[in-house]
Amino acid sequence: MSTLLIKNATVLATMDDHRREIPGGGLFIRDGFIEQVGPTSELPQSADQVLDLAGHVVLPGLVNTHHHFYQTLTRAIPAAQDANLFNWLKTLYPIWARLTPDDIFISTQTALAELAFSGCTTASDHLYLFPNGSRLDDEIAAAREIGVRLQASRGSMSLGESQGGLPPDSVVDSEEQILKDSQRLIETYHDAKPGAAVQIVLAPCSPFSVTTDLLKESAKLARQYGVHLHTHLAETEDEESFCLERFGHRPVGYMQEVDWVGQDVWFAHSIWVNQEEIDLYAKTGCGVAHCPSSNMRLASGIAPIKELLAAGVDVGIGVDGSASNDGSHLLAEARQAMLLARVKEGLTGFSRSDDPSRTLMTARDVLWLATRGGAAVLGRSDIGSLEVGKCADFFAIDLNRLDYAGALHDPLAATIFTQPVKADYTVVGGKFVVKQGQLVTLDEGRLVEKHNQAAKRLLSN
Ligand SMILES: [Zn+2]
Repeated sequence: MSTLLIKNATVLATMDDHRREIPGGGLFIRDGFIEQVGPTSELPQSADQVLDLAGHVVLPGLVNTHHHFYQTLTRAIPAAQDANLFNWLKTLYPIWARLTPDDIFISTQTALAELAFSGCTTASDHLYLFPNGSRLDDEIAAAREIGVRLQASRGSMSLGESQGGLPPDSVVDSEEQILKDSQRLIETYHDAKPGAAVQIVLAPCSPFSVTTDLLKESAKLARQYGVHLHTHLAETEDEESFCLERFGHRPVGYMQEVDWVGQDVWFAHSIWVNQEEIDLYAKTGCGVAHCPSSNMRLASGIAPIKELLAAGVDVGIGVDGSASNDGSHLLAEARQAMLLARVKEGLTGFSRSDDPSRTLMTARDVLWLATRGGAAVLGRSDIGSLEVGKCADFFAIDLNRLDYAGALHDPLAATIFTQPVKADYTVVGGKFVVKQGQLVTLDEGRLVEKHNQAAKRLLSN
């Protein structure tokens, strides 16, 4: 039994159903879970460990709903800097085909370190190619070392170029092999209990890189074990044309056809969806991972977030892979989501309208998406808010810094409105991953060195 007392936060945002914000707030934590939350004066006065966060804003740990950690090795590659999705992928697939198990391990740590510095305490990752003996196990081992919760999505590609798919045959695997490994991973690692450090997700990559059979069989397997399903969907107009031509359906219709709708399914992007498809998501419970930087970077379009939320669809924020962002700063991504939602409003006449019913996405709205929205999308009720019984996952930012000078009228909104900064403390299940602005669980300098060596080797082969 161990206890941790967090006290005197300038403001503690709970993100509970009432969106309660507590001045002078704190948490009393026992064995990784929140036992009490409230004003410091109402909490126990001692604990095994006490952290005074006077002058800090405290928020629930952010939840990243879509990423490809391995892509941190291929950021800003000149040939892929100025391309749309399909051309970007075709440039990068042959480079990714050289990834090794060590590369998966190192890049996972880099991505998770960046995420932890940005306040993220739970990250979903979508690893969909396994060259040269790489396995999802390499990623899980790396995540356990750093201490961030992982929704490890067992991705896959089974539709190579020779069968009319987009990826070269060298990076696709057989359906049999994919399904066998998926089952092994679920049985080895999936933990359905509250406070789980690792959960497995089945995640065939996209309609243009997997076979119909693999989608159907993955859904059956996932439901047999009660794990969630994830894929890219309706990201570009190219994908829409591909689906219409090959399957005779738009992407969402195709998902319906292969039994990929339900509360256990979430899709990355969902830019090219119409109102009927949005209503289908709402009716069936499909969630959406919104990745605004990647959507801008690849000129994919602007997702209809306002319409999705109005229909009642769960929406979380994701940084997406680091080759299309090219960073893993989740707080910055939340800021992008707010700004891009406002661009969309502007395009439909907000600046000409004096209609008081038209409103803009607020900083608090987008923080909700990055916490509660993300938790809902991943199907986790144990994270996303600072409430009794939930995981002790939070981050804190020191307000006394240049970046926030003049923004202390509203410290919580300042985390989104000003230039995103690094967290001073990031705590997962009551354990420090970042403390006083430093990574606790691994050596940052050494990691950068190893990562750069791996990235260089990958490009020089
Ligand atoms: Zn992606």
